[in-house]
Amino acid sequence: MIDWQAIETVLFDMDGTLLDLHYDNYFWLEHLPKFYASHKGWSETKTKDWLMAQFKTKYHSLDFYCIDHWEALLGIDIITLKKEINHMIDFLPYAQSLLKQLTALPVKTAIVTNAHRRTLAIKDQVVQITDYVDEDFCSHDFQLPKEDPGFWSALSRTYSFNPATTVLVDDNERVLASAAAFGIQQLVMPLKPDSMRPLQKMRQPDEFIGIHCLSELLPNKTLSIR
Ligand SMILES: [Mg+2]
Repeated sequence: MIDWQAIETVLFDMDGTLLDLHYDNYFWLEHLPKFYASHKGWSETKTKDWLMAQFKTKYHSLDFYCIDHWEALLGIDIITLKKEINHMIDFLPYAQSLLKQLTALPVKTAIVTNAHRRTLAIKDQVVQITDYVDEDFCSHDFQLPKEDPGFWSALSRTYSFNPATTVLVDDNERVLASAAAFGIQQLVMPLKPDSMRPLQKMRQPDEFIGIHCLSELLPNKTLSIR
């Protein structure tokens, strides 16, 4: 699937690609609404509808991923609330195997995430994810979400990589499209970002490489453990 001999750089999204998106979905769609309903004295249904309307206005923008934005809007401490369920933070199957196997190859690895630095810090405390890669970048560092093709130009000015010999693995199809517009050649989309939900569908199945599990990317499949 990937000719690892021909690859110099591997860029990984974090949530839904290396880490189970179930934590994030549960937090934003269940844990936060429950807390906010009691905080405001609203019903859970009203709270969920109101929150969903707020999320929708920010889809694909940096604010959507920005903890500071949501703390200011809601007037609550989101980080403390997130930590209440940090036992749910976990790798997706074969993520650790893949990351470990890549350290044996002459490739550079980096996490490139839309997550806020404070969210990355919570996850890093629990699963030490940054120990598995050479570098980590948050789109807030560049003031552009990954969905914006300008993000990849900005990243490449800070972090040198050749788009022709780079693999990007990201569960967000819009992000893959913006990376394609920049020129990244090998674009892989995990189709099961949330272990508790069914497979997600690709809108453009001819454009990107869809995978059901990270085990499909392992350079050495015989050595793998889940
Ligand atoms: Mg993701």
